[in-house]
Amino acid sequence: MKALKLKKEDLYTYLESLKSYGELWGPVSRGEHYSYAKLANVRDVALQALRTIIPPKKFFVPPRFNMFRYSQGTYSETFEDVRPRVLFGIHPCDIHGLMILDELFLDRFPDPYYKKRREATAILGLSCIPDDKCMARSTNTHAVEGGFDLAFNELGEKYLVWVGSSLGDDLVRLNIDLFSEEIETSDVQKYLEWRRKRDSRYKLNFDLTGMPDIMELSWDSPLWDELADRCLSCGSCSMVCPTCNCYNIRDVSDLSFTSGVRQRRWDSCMNKEYALVAGGHNFREARAERLKLYYTHKLKAFITEYGKPSCVGCGRCIDTCPVSINVAEVIRGLKGQEVKL
Ligand code: SF4
Ligand code: SF4
Repeated sequence: MKALKLKKEDLYTYLESLKSYGELWGPVSRGEHYSYAKLANVRDVALQALRTIIPPKKFFVPPRFNMFRYSQGTYSETFEDVRPRVLFGIHPCDIHGLMILDELFLDRFPDPYYKKRREATAILGLSCIPDDKCMARSTNTHAVEGGFDLAFNELGEKYLVWVGSSLGDDLVRLNIDLFSEEIETSDVQKYLEWRRKRDSRYKLNFDLTGMPDIMELSWDSPLWDELADRCLSCGSCSMVCPTCNCYNIRDVSDLSFTSGVRQRRWDSCMNKEYALVAGGHNFREARAERLKLYYTHKLKAFITEYGKPSCVGCGRCIDTCPVSINVAEVIRGLKGQEVKL
């Protein structure tokens, strides 16, 4: 992987050049929070942003979209919102989140809707310094060595820019004069210092060693009922999670029932209706069972199947849950530590 340098003062000029590839999106301020927006003015980008309210999964699996239109026995797939896009400012944990979705929707269960959007989108990472809700060091998702086209690492008055793909190389060439290839010893020292600073800022840490076994042994733990007494089943934790990907399918017909669209919408295993089947049986009617499924998926099933958790430590569930349930607390509770309920 090649590394280049870009002066900080040249960032906005470079971001402007990226618009010749496609729509440029990045994090912008929304009061005390951040969300991704199309950057008509590149200076609107919030370089200091930490987690956005909704993770970048929304660009690849939109909350609601039309899969295809049908009429009189025929159908045609729709890719209405697929166009070349550059996503700037994606943090390492969210890049790991996308790599998890890639494993699912590009490799294991190929999904044409995900693939088309993924192929049309350039991923430009941006380094960040954690706040008190980031857990990415514990999930080993605080740094990236792949999964991006370019990754910008802020080092004072310049950025170290990692080129992660041939598309990244093409994107650099859109304004090659802004970049320098001369990496000096002082740059290496600054980079190492920056890494040390980042690693020292993690306040929320947990140990995932043996987590699949602990989950298995905790199947009947009273903790699940205690958490269920508090949980509102609102589903917010899965909406904001960069790796949650449950969805539902719905046909929306016209009045004659001969044509219409098939829609795909985000769903959540925390919703009571999620496991409801024909005949009225519900496999997970109890809230405790739904909580158990959510965390089993993150902390046991995914580790067993893919060798890593499907929690990337972004901290969004902490920010979002109205009753302060979060993955770090669940891990502590399952390990027998005191949990504030
Ligand atoms: S479980 Fe929470 S911290 Fe982990 S990836 Fe999902 S939202 Fe982020
Ligand atoms: S956000 Fe909190 S209250 Fe809502 S479903 Fe998730 S754990 Fe339950």
